[in-house]
Amino acid sequence: MRRKLAAGNWKMNGLKSQLAELEALAKAHPAPSVDVLLCPPVTLLAAAAQGPFCIGAQDCHPNDAGAHTGDISAQMLRDSGAEAVIVGHSERREDHGEHSDIVRAKARAAQAVGLTAIVCMGESLVQREAQNTLDIIGGQLAGSIPDNATAENLVVAYEPIWAIGTGLVPSLAQIGEVHDFIRARLERRFGAGVGRGVRVLYGGSVKPDNASEIFSVPNVDGALVGGASLKAADFSPIISALETS
Ligand code: PEP
Repeated sequence: MRRKLAAGNWKMNGLKSQLAELEALAKAHPAPSVDVLLCPPVTLLAAAAQGPFCIGAQDCHPNDAGAHTGDISAQMLRDSGAEAVIVGHSERREDHGEHSDIVRAKARAAQAVGLTAIVCMGESLVQREAQNTLDIIGGQLAGSIPDNATAENLVVAYEPIWAIGTGLVPSLAQIGEVHDFIRARLERRFGAGVGRGVRVLYGGSVKPDNASEIFSVPNVDGALVGGASLKAADFSPIISALETS
């Protein structure tokens, strides 16, 4: 039985005043029946980790330490109170030229210090229209996930690039097709125990008004939410929808 997960990715948003949204969210969900994870910018990590929710980061360096100006290691994130880290988000793959090899190294570094790696993958609109979605996802799955994955140290997030921040959402059938495919590939590679235990999130324009139907799709174990995780008033109904799914 996989525990559902509502994860919020604040991206490069949020000053200290934004922590008030976490307080409001905690008031609305004093004892959530699903896992709730917030991934603020690294500047807010330590403060956010004082609150009631699990906290994650949005990226890490694959090395433990050293001469990498401006980068943050997985161990530093852990030291700041993080329990998870997003790796391979399409914005990092695009903005920083991160390919699956580096994403896998980052995921391995995260897992090595006890963080859960939330490994993101997704196709572009051109790739979907060319009917290459499953090939792209298959390649990203094979390349981005370390061999030592377990149900505890890995979460996969399917995030079609064309759905992120656009208000566009795949049909439920399209989401289901990709999630079933990811599940089958995880089972084939890691065996039924791990393959059925890893949570697979959907991400891309999840909002209060579409969350319930997305959560009704088999093999959708929750969501990675961008814009709608910034305000408690938007994220709270998404958490509630997951609780009742
Ligand atoms: C994301 O960036 O991971 C994301 C899903 O963003 P949004 O919910 O804003 O589409």
